[in-house]
Amino acid sequence: MSDQTATGTDQQAEGRTFSPPTDFVQNAVARPSLYEEAERDRLAFWRSRAMLLSWKTPFTETLDWSQAPVARWFADGTLNAAYNAVDRHVESGHGGQTALIGEYEDGTSTTYTYTQVKDEISRMANVLADMGVRTGDRVAIYLPMIPEAVFAMLACARIGAPHSVVFGGFSADALRSRIEDAEARAVITADGQFRRGKALPLKPAVDAALAAGAPSVEKVLVVRRTGEDVDWTEGRDIWWHEAREQASTEHEPVWVEAEHPLFILYTSGTTGKPKGIVHTTGGYLTQASYTHRAVFDLKPSHDVYWCTADVGWVTGHTYVVYGPMTNRATQVIYEGTPDSPHQGRWWEIVQKHQVSLFYSSPTAIRTAMKWGEQIPAEYDLGSLRLLGSVGEAINPEAWMWYHRVIGGERCPIVDTWWQTETGGIMISPLPGITSTKPGSAQVPLPGISAEVLDEAGEPVADGESGYLVLTEPWPGMLRGIWGDPERFEDTYWSRFPGRYFAGDGARKDEDGDIWLLGRVDDVMNISGHRLSTMEIESALVGHEWVAEAAVVGASDETTGQAAVAFVILRSGTEDAVAAAGGEEAAAQALREHVKTEIGPIARPKKVLLVNELPKTRSGKIMRRLLRDVAEDREVGDTQTLADSSVMDKIQRGLSGTSS
Ligand code: ATP
Ligand code: MG
Repeated sequence: MSDQTATGTDQQAEGRTFSPPTDFVQNAVARPSLYEEAERDRLAFWRSRAMLLSWKTPFTETLDWSQAPVARWFADGTLNAAYNAVDRHVESGHGGQTALIGEYEDGTSTTYTYTQVKDEISRMANVLADMGVRTGDRVAIYLPMIPEAVFAMLACARIGAPHSVVFGGFSADALRSRIEDAEARAVITADGQFRRGKALPLKPAVDAALAAGAPSVEKVLVVRRTGEDVDWTEGRDIWWHEAREQASTEHEPVWVEAEHPLFILYTSGTTGKPKGIVHTTGGYLTQASYTHRAVFDLKPSHDVYWCTADVGWVTGHTYVVYGPMTNRATQVIYEGTPDSPHQGRWWEIVQKHQVSLFYSSPTAIRTAMKWGEQIPAEYDLGSLRLLGSVGEAINPEAWMWYHRVIGGERCPIVDTWWQTETGGIMISPLPGITSTKPGSAQVPLPGISAEVLDEAGEPVADGESGYLVLTEPWPGMLRGIWGDPERFEDTYWSRFPGRYFAGDGARKDEDGDIWLLGRVDDVMNISGHRLSTMEIESALVGHEWVAEAAVVGASDETTGQAAVAFVILRSGTEDAVAAAGGEEAAAQALREHVKTEIGPIARPKKVLLVNELPKTRSGKIMRRLLRDVAEDREVGDTQTLADSSVMDKIQRGLSGTSS
């Protein structure tokens, strides 16, 4: 990327900064001295973060980087992740504190204290052991977002059996390929799950996956959730509620070495075939707990924390299970969609449980914007004191809406950049310290070394853009791609030798703050100018009619590439669009809007109004599929697409539209 990047929208956004509220400055968990401490001695900094965990055998060595790019952190120490997440809180006298509030779509909820969680995971660990699961065996977990999903992960961790959680919305085929790749010995699933008021089957997908392959699986543990009839394979399938009755609540955690694998998790597949990312125990847990405490300002006996991510994604691993629980959080987990039974469901939950720390995604926020601010206005959101965002860059206008409508202009927003591979948050403001800028993730956390490099691998100057890299190892870094060391080296370590290449484009503003520009594959070259799809999208979302936008570069005879925009309008804009002269005229007006905001070079060649955008099951826009449409190609791999009919609808809609 070059210095020709258009920066109109960012320049405007950069003018907007929000200083930390006074009460945060005074009482925040993160102190400014953290930056100094990490700066002074990075390894000593990580050592003291790791010492906040409970170790069975203390470690003596912090980092071994001699086998780079595979790191070994705290390698001679032993510990157990489930013990850290649960038992130690019970032992320190907090067993009566609520750990999990499982909220269901129908408005009912179940609450578990830390003592109860300890009993449940001990029982499940005993059941898994009876099923033949041994330390080191992989276990696939295919469950809805219910407390049992958390128990299953921690039960695996308790016996040192790496889990591989597969999102409950994936097909039998996606499940089978993940089980086969990890060679799982057992599967934990449920009869079904509830979604939009309906009981949907889950176990049949496991049956189909195992009928089609996955010979490594010996046993299937089944949670009864919906009570619907399911097929049963005698000798293989075991009901959890029956086994649980017989199981003891006594279970000695298996103390594993710090580098023992804790889990395998497949990436979202936004850019291609999912990768089985491997994380280990000591380093990952250090990073998870430190970042969770500092970024979310957790005050364990006061806060109610809610991260809306499913445990099928890394956010659900680090910021539902391992980070919050290691830090003794009280948290909400929710099985259901944001719009069932009504579009105010999430805000109703915030009000009901007095949620104070809320972590969600730009796609969820833009969806709430599309539905209109009168919906959250019906609820008392006064308990909220901090908001977080992850998954994609948050457009400045969506940030402003989040700040104003959800945060009541009083909550700091942490825009957290990280990946499945990084294990935890890498770039984010710290509440109480950083003055925030809408749309920018801003600064690496203390202990993290990030840089933006040009093609030649040199750091760019402030005001310029390039490739985001991490220049020093960090405890939560992936240890590899399961079964594919070559892909590990190629994907992350070959572009800039010795440095971790994230695959994302980024820009440093005049203050040196980092703005994520999207995947490097998504950066366009229009008449020799490098333009980020993200910037044009943000300009579009800044228009009062627009709820969501996805921009792709399509090849163009004269300009090399040209921007093509797919736009969803907000509900309630029909009259305004009609007054402007209809959809054609509205599309024209949006093209002009981008020209005014960024410049003539950025004006999209086409603006197409659509009702939906193709998204991964984790809610990210899959621009590569839209690029296929814009370039009239056959649409690529859609395995991780949330709704397989979306691409058909978009293509059908297109054949009737002109530029
Ligand atoms: P795959 O690697 O299979 O294509 P994926 O990259 O979507 O899938 P994840 O690990 O879930 O899988 O997502 C990480 C990516 O999400 C980052 O590389 C980045 O592109 C994007 N991302 C996450 N948080 C932010 C953020 N706060 N700002 C900008 N981008 C973000
Ligand atoms: Mg990725």
